[in-house]
Amino acid sequence: MAIDVLDRGDLPFPRSLPEFQRLFPNESACAAYLERARWRDGFVCPRCTVADEPYRFANRPTVLRCRHCQINSYLTAGTVMERTHTPLSVWFWAAYLVTSQTPGISAIQFQRQLGLSRYETAFQILHKLRVGMVRPDQDQIGGKPGEHVEVDETYVGGRTRGEGRGVHHKTIVAAAVEVRRRKRDSALNDRRNSRYAGRVRLAVVSDRGADALCGFVKSVVAPGARIITDDWGGYAGLTKYGYHHASVAERGDPHVAEEFMPIIHLVFSNLKTWLRGIHHGVSPQHLQAYLNEFTFRFNRRFYPFNAFRSLLGIAGDATSLTYAEFYATKSRPTTSSMSWGLTG
Ligand SMILES: [Zn+2]
Repeated sequence: MAIDVLDRGDLPFPRSLPEFQRLFPNESACAAYLERARWRDGFVCPRCTVADEPYRFANRPTVLRCRHCQINSYLTAGTVMERTHTPLSVWFWAAYLVTSQTPGISAIQFQRQLGLSRYETAFQILHKLRVGMVRPDQDQIGGKPGEHVEVDETYVGGRTRGEGRGVHHKTIVAAAVEVRRRKRDSALNDRRNSRYAGRVRLAVVSDRGADALCGFVKSVVAPGARIITDDWGGYAGLTKYGYHHASVAERGDPHVAEEFMPIIHLVFSNLKTWLRGIHHGVSPQHLQAYLNEFTFRFNRRFYPFNAFRSLLGIAGDATSLTYAEFYATKSRPTTSSMSWGLTG
């Protein structure tokens, strides 16, 4: 599993506003942090590999110039801040606020708190952080002894202004969540209390057919894992792909699935509440990025501060998609004017 580099005591996480101000009082402090993240034992020129103190420029803190080959190294290269015109300190504030505010922060709140003149700047910063939140090389979930994976899909969005409710405007989100058991199982017959969620994966899928749903499962769930779904035919092929698949017959009664798949229903419920409450609806072209943010928060909910460096793209092992790469793989929606309400 790709984890933050936790042994980097020289790269502390700010845990409070005073600590943030002490760690990152200005641009050069932020730049020094980026430099330490990349060169733990001091600058080494990537071109000529000579380890020597580089030239520094007071008015360009993100540039280090090798004394030997004169090549510039850019501290933001390979991070979400690459080629940004926004001060590093604003990015650091964003990463701090996103990771320390429990449900996250909306672009309008961020714009106000930092006194940014343009809403678009606030939106772009938060959105670039969001896009980078889930790494493309993330490992598959499930497969550990004693745990299983609940898989289901749900509709997100739907209401188009002036058109009423149209199924054709809803987007299908597939989810898989690890279900773990507390070590000391309660004698009470309380399914939810003795189980809890491990890691989650969420993705927009094109439809509810077997190719889309089984394709999602194959990409995110480890081979051989135990999987529980409802009895929708789209999941019928999972055994064929080597999973231990059990399906629960819903027979039109949603309570049956909730009874046997309580954790995935909690995930969907939390997701919809979060989208509606924090972000007031999400445009379809951006939904996957918001799913990434939700996944990131959900999987790190016990370790909120560890996310700070990871968010900035300086966690060492982080190989997040860049913003351009993320959107290069997306097809442009043709209905950009629709507003997204969220339905259960
Ligand atoms: Zn050099």
